[in-house]
Amino acid sequence: MAKMKICGLQKTTLLDYPGKVAATVFLGGCNFRCPFCHNSDLLTGSAPERMTPEELLTFLKRRQGILEGVCITGGEPTLWPEDAAELMRRIKEMDYQVKLDTNGYRPQVLKDLCGLGVVDYVAMDIKAGRQHYAEVCGHSPIPAPAELTGDAVRHTGQPEEGMTEPAEPTAAGMTVHAKLPAAGAAVHVKLPAAGAEAHTELTANGTTVHAKLPATGAAPHAESPAAGTFRLAAIEESAAWLMEGHVPYEFRTTTVKGIHTAEDFTDIAAWIGGCERYFIQGFVDSGNVLKSGFSAYTRAELDEFLNIVRKTIPNAEIRGVDY
Ligand code: SF4
Repeated sequence: MAKMKICGLQKTTLLDYPGKVAATVFLGGCNFRCPFCHNSDLLTGSAPERMTPEELLTFLKRRQGILEGVCITGGEPTLWPEDAAELMRRIKEMDYQVKLDTNGYRPQVLKDLCGLGVVDYVAMDIKAGRQHYAEVCGHSPIPAPAELTGDAVRHTGQPEEGMTEPAEPTAAGMTVHAKLPAAGAAVHVKLPAAGAEAHTELTANGTTVHAKLPATGAAPHAESPAAGTFRLAAIEESAAWLMEGHVPYEFRTTTVKGIHTAEDFTDIAAWIGGCERYFIQGFVDSGNVLKSGFSAYTRAELDEFLNIVRKTIPNAEIRGVDY
């Protein structure tokens, strides 16, 4: 079974948790594939576990009185609702404040975690303006039916049993997302063309299997959007819920040249105007970016975006840009 894995720990940070000295815990696995992701080695189920939850808790026990908060980030922590909730509960038992980073794609998990009282602060990504949100998350637009041919082959990489993860985009630009269960079990993928068939090649538990995928009647997995089924409404639901003020929160947009334009910020201003906190963050090439070749906007260019969003979010700020 796939399980929550702690794939990294930053022992001390003054940046990740506003106003607090904190540690940051990186959980493996993500349901997005943002091309500018700087934690690309954490996205799949094959990301190595760096420490067990018990080892993390032992570390945090030693740091009591030194650290004030713990940031739970990823990857995408909401992929692991039960395990993450238990981890956060035990962290809070040690009187730490807990910050949850999320891409907002699982609004019910976000609400549940906050409802359990294990989250003190939420940082939710606003990846882009709504007009090309799916693309910026690494999810291709719906392909025209003509693009889906009977001999199309989708290769899904190296899934881990039970792991929910998007597949690599194909040459045709289509992405298929599948929850990959135990070897030999059925895989359900929603295909856009009614009546069309496609073959996919799946590697499960080291075994290559070939599956014939039905075009109709296969429901997309709730956590991992299939091609053409990206649910912007899920992101909007999370954002709207946070703006109701159930828990302190911030929104933030990592801004990348070649991906974001002024139109993004015009829409973001219209979308989350009046929110509690919003930060524009500059892109930094960590050397571990999912797709190479992106660059950062200049400070002056970011200021132009800031001026756009300040029309509806007066206290919006640029963060983490020292140029
Ligand atoms: S940047 Fe995108 S792909 Fe990377 S961890 Fe965040 S949501 Fe996942």
